[in-house]
Amino acid sequence: MDPQSQSRFFPMPIEIRQAIYAHIIPSAVHLFLQQDKVAVSACIEPCPERDLSGMERRSTGDWRTDAIMARRLRSSWGPHWKCEEVALGLGGSYADKMCDVARNVTMSAILAACKKMYTDILIFMVNTVTFHVTDLETFKYLVQRNQDSGLSHLFSEGLLPNFCPFLKQLNITLRLHLSFFKTPENAVALTSSAGAGDILKTPDNIPSHLKTWAQIWAALARQLKQLQNLHIWLDTDDKSSWSLVNERAILSHLAALISIGTAPGLKHVSVNLPLLHPRHEKPERHFTNDNPPPPACLTIQRNLRQTFHGKEITPGEFHVISDSEFSILVEMLELPEFEGMSLAEVVKAEQECWRRGQSLEAELRALTSWEFPLL
Ligand SMILES: [Zn+2]
Ligand SMILES: [Zn+2]
Repeated sequence: MDPQSQSRFFPMPIEIRQAIYAHIIPSAVHLFLQQDKVAVSACIEPCPERDLSGMERRSTGDWRTDAIMARRLRSSWGPHWKCEEVALGLGGSYADKMCDVARNVTMSAILAACKKMYTDILIFMVNTVTFHVTDLETFKYLVQRNQDSGLSHLFSEGLLPNFCPFLKQLNITLRLHLSFFKTPENAVALTSSAGAGDILKTPDNIPSHLKTWAQIWAALARQLKQLQNLHIWLDTDDKSSWSLVNERAILSHLAALISIGTAPGLKHVSVNLPLLHPRHEKPERHFTNDNPPPPACLTIQRNLRQTFHGKEITPGEFHVISDSEFSILVEMLELPEFEGMSLAEVVKAEQECWRRGQSLEAELRALTSWEFPLL
């Protein structure tokens, strides 16, 4: 006899069971690969504040030699660096209670209770929870699994990957090497002119990581048919200007796949990109206010990228440096003339000055005797 037929839990109406789950399961979770299995942890910062320089990652003492801050600045989880710390138990900078909340001891316990409850909870989760993925490997694993591989995988990998095709809310945060995003110009022309169907047939001279990139987006459109909201956050882990990246090229696959309706339920796609320095923006490579506009299906948002970075001083030892094309604009914010302005507003003012052939930065340099590095 099935012992669960004696359970008082499952005969309860689905609404009651779901109300119980809603108490236990966070509204946003991270998925990441750990020892070849998909691990789940709570997202403790589902909507990180915008326009942060990185100073908020400081621990104690002099920020220049703050090794914890340097590690946080190097986090591949980007704005979810706190979620990474609690998910992986890094640093010991949080109270153990906090770690328990993030690793979600209760969530793990009920997921481990029995297979029936596990399935019940996963059905609840795919419908209500926002799933965050912060690395390419996990992203690839989730969308490119062979869904026809049958039940043999269920027990080795857990049920979770099999629920991925039913995800409704997905947030992808990718902080990748600059070299990943630096596409050769000919590959750009080829991939951006190719329709969705042609993406997989891209010529051999396209670097393999770009093929993988195209394949992942194609797999997402093919597999995640229930997807309703997709949010993408992109940046590099390099202090060089984001303007080196051809945004139109790297988002071309996504735009092509969505615009031809391969993911029918998709209501909203937003892409968060680093703020562009007005000095370096180019309409043919970047989504600027000038033409051509971004594809109608995409909402582009911009954020200041971190101006502080972790730098290896001696092997294994990291210090913090302040190095950004925006450093001077950030410093402007501290002047009385700019009081109450956000960085985005200062950048906008700078953009307008540039259109008139002036530069706030240059004027500021002339006004002050500071020595600024030439950009
Ligand atoms: Zn998070
Ligand atoms: Zn702890």
